Amino acid sequence: MNFPFDNTFAEQMTGFYAPWQGASVPDPQVALFNRELAQWLGLDAESLDSAEGAAIFAGAVAPEGASPLAQVYAGHQFGGFSPQLGDGRALLVGELIDPRGARWDLHLKGSGPTPFSRGGDGKASLAPVLREYLIGEAMHALGIPTSRALAAVTTGEPVRRNGRALPGAVLARIASSHLRVGTVEFFARRGQHDHVRQLVDYALRRHAPDRAEADDPALELLRFVRDRQAALVARWMGIGFVHGVMNTDNTTLSGETIDYGPCAFMDRFDPGTVFSSIDHGGRYAYGNQPSIMQWNVARLAECLLPLFDAPDIDAALEIANHEVDAFGAVYQRAWRDVLSAKLGLTDEGPGRGALAEPGVDPDDDALARDLFTLLQEQEADFTGFFRHLSAALLGDSPQLRSLLREPKAAEGWLERWRTRVGVPADADARREALAGDRARGMNRFNPLYVPRNHVVEEALQTAERELDLGPVKRLLAVLADPFTRQEGAEDLEHPAPVDAAPFVTFC
Ligand code: AMP
Ligand code: MG
Ligand code: MG
Repeated sequence: MNFPFDNTFAEQMTGFYAPWQGASVPDPQVALFNRELAQWLGLDAESLDSAEGAAIFAGAVAPEGASPLAQVYAGHQFGGFSPQLGDGRALLVGELIDPRGARWDLHLKGSGPTPFSRGGDGKASLAPVLREYLIGEAMHALGIPTSRALAAVTTGEPVRRNGRALPGAVLARIASSHLRVGTVEFFARRGQHDHVRQLVDYALRRHAPDRAEADDPALELLRFVRDRQAALVARWMGIGFVHGVMNTDNTTLSGETIDYGPCAFMDRFDPGTVFSSIDHGGRYAYGNQPSIMQWNVARLAECLLPLFDAPDIDAALEIANHEVDAFGAVYQRAWRDVLSAKLGLTDEGPGRGALAEPGVDPDDDALARDLFTLLQEQEADFTGFFRHLSAALLGDSPQLRSLLREPKAAEGWLERWRTRVGVPADADARREALAGDRARGMNRFNPLYVPRNHVVEEALQTAERELDLGPVKRLLAVLADPFTRQEGAEDLEHPAPVDAAPFVTFC
């Protein structure tokens, strides 16, 4: 089993981790294997989808060249500081170099207790592992920076949760790193500024090598994380994703989404949407995500205060405040970019250059604001509304109407939108062609399929109760191409039944 490892964290970052081994398990079996990802990584997919691969992905066997370790970190959890967290049920197996030269952490979740388990069992059960696999892969297909699932294995060992014995499982995943705001916090809070400096340099070399030689590396890292995370949250907001546990230990320095615990997709539009059973105050509600991310960036800035190239603490504070305040403008730009693509105000999607410096058009901002008021009043399905909006370019769309409580209430807004897009409702042949182009552009950005809660839950229950992965595999296949209508997948388009009980996630 040949993994192209090059373990810089293990080699360069002594003091930032504990070398560790996964627990042995009775009967590791590959439940899901991401063959396409394995091939993309340059791994030998054939030989990994095997008993030997299962033992490696369970953490029971370390492959040649691995240097498995548990990383230490701290973090603000629901606003309160926890000085001692870390990989309590996870392992960094090693860093893979893919055929294009990019570096990926190969990381396990559920591989047994570590020195950072704090009394936890170090294990994971099958349904949450499959959930992370499914949602991470869906996010990737939606074009959102994320960790990705390489394999899910069952361990043959029951895991106890809330008095029930559930099938045990481990998730093998990759991410461009697992460095977190919480990693920096761990050392900063202990006054280990030399360690913080070392971490800053390492993170820049890894994620922003062009900035690694900058005069003020701490400032560069702060700006990098701020900009990446602002762009990431704007993308979440654009697909109705609620992360659910935006603690600083789940906020990466790379700007990738990690830790799919209590996350879920919003059905009906409501900024107050919360799914997590433990988020009583709604701190991590859909509509709070941008300001929470800014708060997390402020926690990073605090850690970096002693490192800034500044004559005294007041000057350092001024730098930090300025950079953290700028999150708002960076986020707004990214969000306008996302909205422009969703509403067909541009031919291109975000990050494709068309709106690199969008002018701030107050009419567009009002158009967006009025739309969200309308969506909330109409209790409209978020994903469905945007997807079917393009069908209303040339006039009435029964599909769109079916998603609104009082379709008439939307007429005024729709007419304003058509005028803005340049396709008035009274169509002639030229306008029809223009509308066709617009619609295709919008449909490349507004998904038809997202992992809808009621569908995901049903698939996971079938997996957990009957050990039948059929429904999970079907969902994975459809969600791999979320923008294209697929035969026999009509049920996956529909919003949750109106009378469904509120969806709640546990982690
Ligand atoms: P999370 O809420 O998933 O981000 O995890 C927060 C902290 O709890 C991290 O330090 C995890 O490693 C730890 N943790 C979560 N579940 C377990 C578990 N079953 N056993 C040990 N540690 C855990
Ligand atoms: Mg976590
Ligand atoms: Mg978690």
